[in-house]
Formats: sequence, structure tokens, C-alpha cells
Amino acid sequence: MEKKLNLSLEQAKKWVDKIFPNPMMMCPKCQTSIVPREQARVQSLSEHVCDPNGEPYLKQLYGCLNKNCACFKDKIRWTEDGERFGGKYDVDYKFIDDNDAPFGTIFRKINAERQSRLVLTLNLYFIKWRILELFKANEWGKIVDSKYWKLETFVRQKHGYYTYYKSGIHMLIYCIGKINQYCKSIKEAPDEPFFREKLKEETEFKSWWPKTAWWRWVAMWYARYRRLYEKI
Ligand SMILES: [Zn+2]
Repeated sequence: MEKKLNLSLEQAKKWVDKIFPNPMMMCPKCQTSIVPREQARVQSLSEHVCDPNGEPYLKQLYGCLNKNCACFKDKIRWTEDGERFGGKYDVDYKFIDDNDAPFGTIFRKINAERQSRLVLTLNLYFIKWRILELFKANEWGKIVDSKYWKLETFVRQKHGYYTYYKSGIHMLIYCIGKINQYCKSIKEAPDEPFFREKLKEETEFKSWWPKTAWWRWVAMWYARYRRLYEKI
């Protein structure tokens, strides 16, 4: 005998919610679903950065459903983004992959990507190189992109500190972009002297620093060419 299933969308949603309270978010310790608990005005990291003294928004907090889980016992709460509040901060809860944000949240992804590893530092006193191994992760905290490497160069300054160095190619691309922008602005507003003045500076030596860099020369000739042949 065929049984007719009459199920409204509303009923179906309630039914799904009952079985999978929040199928997208799971406890980072026991992988049981986390469910809405109380609401509270806890200060999120972004609120703290933007306005440390402002009153935080009211947020829905979530907690683990599993009564045997330490997260349940210690009333650990998370926001929808997976930011953690509560629990004992001196206790090692042994979260899966050492990541305290629930599965399926933005914070789990951020925490996983934070685990960049310094592979090598080569310090030749005046110049220092660093190779970092970086990852791209998903909301399940799993690495999705194969590792990629980043080479960073630092140059020693007068007082012994190091500054991040960008290559000449980087700088040339930046300068050409700037010159193109000036030319475009001059054509759009021919009566505005500001951009003409800026473009003129690019063709002269006086504003140069560092004066000897090769990309400065290339950018200068490029600026001169634009001024001459486009009559601007
Ligand atoms: Zn749990």
C-alpha cells in the first residue's frame, strides 16, 4: 500500500532541525552539532578592533549538544562565525587539530590558515631572506590548496632594524600604474594643475628616492614619453 506523505515545508524544516540542530556547525572537540543557547553581548574580535569601548551587539551563542563533552560541561560558547567565548583558558581541551572553532565556521578556516610555517631564514647581515610555507583552508579547517611558498626579503637599515623589501619589478609596476593614473586624470580634467604637476615630478630627478634604482630610470623615461607623445 502506498503511503502518502503530506509534509509542509514548515514541518519539514522543524523535522530536519530536530535531527540535525545545526548541520553546518559541529563541536571542535566531539563533532556533535552545536545548537543555539543564550544570547549575550559578548565583544567579538572585530568589534574590539573597531571600537574597544563601544557596546557589543547582541549575539546568538551556540553550545555543544553532547552532555559528556567538556565543551558542554564548561559552557563553552561560540558565535555564528565560530569565535569562542567561555570555558577555562588554562585547560587544554584537546580540540581536533588544535583548532577551537566549530567545524563549518569562518573562524575554523582562519585558525587553520594561521598555521603558516617558517621554513628557512637566511641572514647575510645586510640582507635577510625568509621562506614561509602557507596554506589555504576551508570552513572545515581542512587544507584545500596545496602548500605554497612565499619568499620575503628584508634589508638592514642604518639603526640595525630590517625593513621589508619589494623587488624592482614590483616598484616599476607601481610607478607605471601611478603615471598612467596621472595621464588619465589629466585627460579627464585638463584644467586641473595638480595632476600635471605630479606627472612632471615623475620626469625629473629631484623627487627621486632611491636615486640609483634602475626602475626609477625606466619609470622616468616612460613618464617623459607619455608627456611628449601625448602632448600632456
Ligand atoms: Zn562537544
